[in-house]
Parts: sequence; structure tokens; C-alpha cells
Amino acid sequence: MPAAPAAKKSRRPSRPAPELIFGDLWEFDPAPETADPKLKPRYDLFIGGAFVAPAAGRYFDSINPANEQKLAEIAVADERDVDAAYAAARRAQPGWERLSGAERGKYLYRLARLLQDRAREFAVAETLDGGKPIKESRDFDVPMSAAHFFYHAGWADKLDYAFPGARSISAHGVVGQVIPWNFPLLMLAWKLAPALATGNTVVLKPAETTSITALKLAEILQEAELPPGVVNFVTGAGETGAAVVAHPAAAKIAFTGSTEVGRRIMRATAGTGKKLTLELGGKAANIVFDDAPLDQAVEGIVNGIFFNQGHVCCAGSRLLVQEGVADTVIAKLKQRIRVLRVGDPIDKNTDIGAINSREQLERIRRLVDAGVKEGATLHQPPCRLPAKGFYFQPSLFTDVQQSHRIAREEIFGPVLSILTFRTVDEAIEKANNTAYGLSAGVWTDKGSRILKMSTELKAGVVWANTYNKFDPASPFGGYKESGFGREGGRHGLADYVKLG
Ligand code: NAD
Repeated sequence: MPAAPAAKKSRRPSRPAPELIFGDLWEFDPAPETADPKLKPRYDLFIGGAFVAPAAGRYFDSINPANEQKLAEIAVADERDVDAAYAAARRAQPGWERLSGAERGKYLYRLARLLQDRAREFAVAETLDGGKPIKESRDFDVPMSAAHFFYHAGWADKLDYAFPGARSISAHGVVGQVIPWNFPLLMLAWKLAPALATGNTVVLKPAETTSITALKLAEILQEAELPPGVVNFVTGAGETGAAVVAHPAAAKIAFTGSTEVGRRIMRATAGTGKKLTLELGGKAANIVFDDAPLDQAVEGIVNGIFFNQGHVCCAGSRLLVQEGVADTVIAKLKQRIRVLRVGDPIDKNTDIGAINSREQLERIRRLVDAGVKEGATLHQPPCRLPAKGFYFQPSLFTDVQQSHRIAREEIFGPVLSILTFRTVDEAIEKANNTAYGLSAGVWTDKGSRILKMSTELKAGVVWANTYNKFDPASPFGGYKESGFGREGGRHGLADYVKLG
């Protein structure tokens, strides 16, 4: 073929090639969300419907992980405070359960609506306290929390229909609940709403790095005139959590957090007769077959691992991609993560915000170092991280082996481990080759393959041609070391009642 003639020089400036437009990060003006989070300088415990100082008078600082500045002081609850919280919950429980379901439902509807009224304020508080991008707290955490209260408000007067055939349906009594820091308000809603709808009262401990939205919700509980003692919040670290779990007045313990602490809680409750549900960690496989719509799959992979900085129990942290399309998918992913915006979480353009704490950042770094040492290849796009605060750039690992720590352990950060497979059976075998079993994703054009995969994958949730989709009506929970019990839906409700 003859060589193409040299292009004539145009007088108009030439436009950059399309791939350059895609490959470079556009500059945007800062677009911070400006709603006032209405934070108090100091938060006490919420016991018996009132804010009360902790018995020992101790407080710790809650900081903004985006800039390491102090946001507020949070009370440390010791055993005396936990005891007072259980006493208040015990006093309130019979009256709360005696209310008609419709009356309990009214309170839940009220909480949902008040939360909606203050949605922007709560979204900003959640982002400042936890580091997640404002677009996620605004569009996911807060509306989904309100949706859980609405959903369970609807069940409160329909328990007979939820459990047809039961001769009696009663509450457990007082429930002790301990939650993690990755979705502080949402995990609180997942715990409170079904417990209250079914007539239980609650002592709940938020995670130590993210207590603020729980304490702001306490203000809403007061505004809704929820009877005192129905919900009590005790703040503090692991010791406070252990006191909540150990208290003899707890009829049931509901825990969300790491598998390691879940094991400790299982030991602490063994033989006590306390009911227990555990929502623990995960190492989900996101499986892409060669007939999948690849551009859509790439968006799903990005959402699966970079949503909430990868601080997601069901994160699709192991990508299993069929060999024939592996190079294409990896090339598209590398291109796609170049345009993820990492930075100030309060900015509406930010895709990846701050890592929740220094401790978590160090854990991510340790595991990424281990991946490199074990022989996997690390890919990170050029990325300017803010000088202050805790940040980690989006990262991909190729050349990953099943035995590598990055393929087995929960990194809980924006780090994706990529493995390949040839056949359906190999994909199932590799996906199930984990101690966890919380979630999985399948990308394929074939409905029959989706059905086969969802039957054979040992995971509580299997998403098909999508990822990270949640609904209060849909039960969520794990197999194996991801725990037991379900949250959401009728199955989640069942964990909060005794059936006669
Ligand atoms: P974590 O287990 O360290 O802490 C969770 C909570 O337990 C915190 O409130 C903590 O103060 C408390 N705690 C610590 N020691 C305790 C003890 N001995 N007794 C009682 N409570 C104690 O977990 P984390 O780092 O806050 O959260 C991340 C983990 O949570 C990840 O493993 C993630 O996968 C998991 N998670 C699971 C789900 C799910 O639905 N399965 C949802 C969100 C997060």
C-alpha cells in the first residue's frame, strides 16, 4: 500500500485525539457541598431519651479523615454507662411491645420523614466524619437509611402476614447492637428499623471513628418523641462493644464488623442463650464472561471496588475475567481508573474520598506491599493526592495467584485483584475458593449461565450484570466466615422475633 500523503497543516488548531480527552483528568472548579452539618463540639451518650455525660467523664476526638482536623468530642461509655443504657431499654421494652404495630409504625414513619427533611445536613456530617464522597452519602447512604425506616414502618402492623401460621409473634426483648464505620448511618438503620418494628428496644454502639450521625439521629429520636429508653446509644471503642455484648440483659446481639471480632463475639455469647446474628467480612468474586457487555461490565467493576473507597463488605475485590477478554478488560479498566477523581470528599465531583482512618490506610498499604512482594503486578494511575488526610489511589493488581494474600484477605480499600479463568466450572471453583461468602457478581449475556452461577456460588447475594444494588426488601447476609442471619426483607425481620 502506498504511504498516505503527509497531512496538510490546518490553519485551525487541531483538536486532541479522543483517547487523550478520555485519558486526561479534566480540571473542575471546586464544588463543595455547603449545607451546615450542625455539629456540636461535644457529644454525650444517649440514654433513656436524654444526652447524659459518661460516668468516667472521658471523651475522645472524632476527626475528619480528609484533613485530620478535629470535628467533635465523643463520650467513652464504660460498663456503668452500658448498664444504665440496658436498664433504660429494659424499662421501655414492655410498653413499646404493647403498643399496636400501627403505633410503632407511626414512629418509624416519623423517623424516616425527619431524616429526609434533614438529608443534606446528615449527608455532610457523614462525609466529614467518615471520608466518603458527598455524592455517595447524599445519593446512597442517607436516602437508603430513610428507605429502611419506611420499609420497616410498613411491616410493623403486618407481622401476622410476614409470619403466616405462627400462633404467637413476640419480640426478643432488649437487643444489643454493634456496628462498623463504613456505612455508619445505614448500618444503624439496618439494625434499628427491624428491631423497633417488631417491639424490641435497643442499646447500640456505633464505631469509634464514626459516631456522629448516630448522635445526630438521637436528636431526631427526641424530635419524633420516641418513648425514652426505646433506643440508647453508647459510644466508645472495642471495650464498650464488649460490654454491650456481655451484658446479661441482652436477649439478642446483632453485630456487623470484621470476622475477627465476630469470632470473639461468638465466643462471648456461647452458652448464654443470647440470640446472635453476625454480618462479617467478604472477598467477593466479580466474574466477567467473554460474552458480557464489556463496557457495562467495566463500570460495574469500578463501582464494585471503588464505591466508598472499597470500604464495602460486599466489594467486588476479586475480579475473575475469562481469558479471551482479559487483555481487553484490563486495558479498559486501566483507562477508566485514570479519570477517577480522588480527593476532598465534600467536593461533589469526587469519586474516591478519604480512607476512614490512619489505621485503615496503614492496613491497605501493608496488604498492597505484600501483593508486590508475592509477585503480583501493581498498576496505579498518575494521581495527585491531597497533602493532608488519609488517601490511597485506585489500584489494580494483575498476575495474581489464588494463594496471594491480596486474593484471600479483605483489603477494605480501593484495590482490585485480577485473576483469569477459562471455563464456567473453573470460575465457580475459584470464586468459592475463599473463607468468605457474602456476595458475588456475574457478567454474561446468557440467562441460563446466570442461573447456574447463582445456584453454585456460595454467596448470600449474587448480582447479575450489575453490582452493589441494594433494596430494603431484599435480604442481605453471608455464608461461611461472612456470618449468619439476614438484614432486610422478611428474612431480616424474622431474626428479630420469637415465633410460637
Ligand atoms: P471491627 O470488627 O473492627 O469493628 C466493628 C465494631 O465492633 C466497632 O464498633 C468496634 O468498636 C466494635 N468492637 C471491636 N472489638 C469488639 C469486641 N471485642 N466486642 C464487641 N465489639 C467490638 O470492624 P470495622 O473495621 O469497624 O468494620 C469493617 C468490617 O466490617 C469489615 O470486615 C467489613 O467487611 C465488615 N462489614 C460487614 C457488613 C455485612 O453486612 N456483612 C457490612 C459492613 C461492614
